[in-house]
Amino acid sequence: MIPGPFAYYRPSSVAEAVGLLVRLGDEARPLAGGHSLIPMMKLRMATPEHLVDLAGVAGLKEIRDNGATITIGATVTQAELINSELLLRRLPILRETALQVADPQIRSKGTLGGNVANGDPGNDMPALMHCLNATYLLEGPAGSRLVPARDYYQGAYFTALGQGELLTGVSIPVPPLGHGYAYEKLKRKIGDYATAAAAVVLTLVDGRVATASIALTNVAATPLFAEAAGAIVLGSTLDAATVKRAAAAAKAITDPATDGRGTAEYRREMTGVMVSRALMKAAARARIGG
Ligand SMILES: Cc1cc2nc3c(=O)[nH]c(=O)nc-3n(C[C@H](O)[C@H](O)[C@H](O)COP(=O)(O)OP(=O)(O)OC[C@H]3O[C@@H](n4cnc5c(N)ncnc54)[C@H](O)[C@@H]3O)c2cc1C
Repeated sequence: MIPGPFAYYRPSSVAEAVGLLVRLGDEARPLAGGHSLIPMMKLRMATPEHLVDLAGVAGLKEIRDNGATITIGATVTQAELINSELLLRRLPILRETALQVADPQIRSKGTLGGNVANGDPGNDMPALMHCLNATYLLEGPAGSRLVPARDYYQGAYFTALGQGELLTGVSIPVPPLGHGYAYEKLKRKIGDYATAAAAVVLTLVDGRVATASIALTNVAATPLFAEAAGAIVLGSTLDAATVKRAAAAAKAITDPATDGRGTAEYRREMTGVMVSRALMKAAARARIGG
């Protein structure tokens, strides 16, 4: 349980961090909260020769309200998401989801950037970013670029992040005031990754669904945007038959593994249950104004 040897670097700017990643090449990895990377290193499933610590990098710690969007810096921790008054008011699903990530000790160190950057299908934030249609801000040797969360994940631990690139933040369009939201996660115990989980954000007009976005965690090699399921509930009052059809559409796009969390069939079935629960909870919240 002791990691292999590595050299440690502590840059103070994004430019310096990118410069180090480029110069040190394939064997260098950014280090954020360390709560995914260090366990992998202890198990010798990752053996980077160079760790570029982002803790001292200026400008990555901010949660900024831009009006129509909120930008969250890569090294904002999950605990900081939970404690942000701004997010509680304008993007409460972030707090709801962060509270279901791991446990308080891990959340006090684990960052939003680390959670979304590395492409672990078990992580909760990537599906939430699909649901919210977030954009990732990447900075690399060729400059900055924006990648929609829905285009970022290509396979388990395989993402659009290029060599020498750093994820510096996440930009999230703010849903209208009074929107409904829910993150429903089935897990075996506190601190566990999801057996299946669903994120829902919706709006109601005169009791009918005007907009709906649904995404799924840990039921495929990547997070899934359940576009067809969201389209099914549009215009409905979320009656039982419509919710059942939406759940079935969500289940149909999953491809879960059979593992310690259950068989593929069970996890697919639980995806439907999580989608139904999240839709009903989100609608109930929208009915009382968010
Ligand atoms: C026991 C346990 C239970 C957990 N349960 C859950 C859970 O239920 N749900 C969940 O979502 N997570 C869970 N986690 C993971 C935890 O949330 C991690 O903290 C998080 O996923 C990674 O964030 P980090 O800041 O610790 O990243 P690190 O571990 O420092 O980095 C993770 C990876 O991302 C890369 N990276 C980090 N930051 C950047 C960046 N800004 N740009 C580019 N690449 C970057 C690193 O090089 C590394 O490859 C659990 C972890 C543990 C140990």
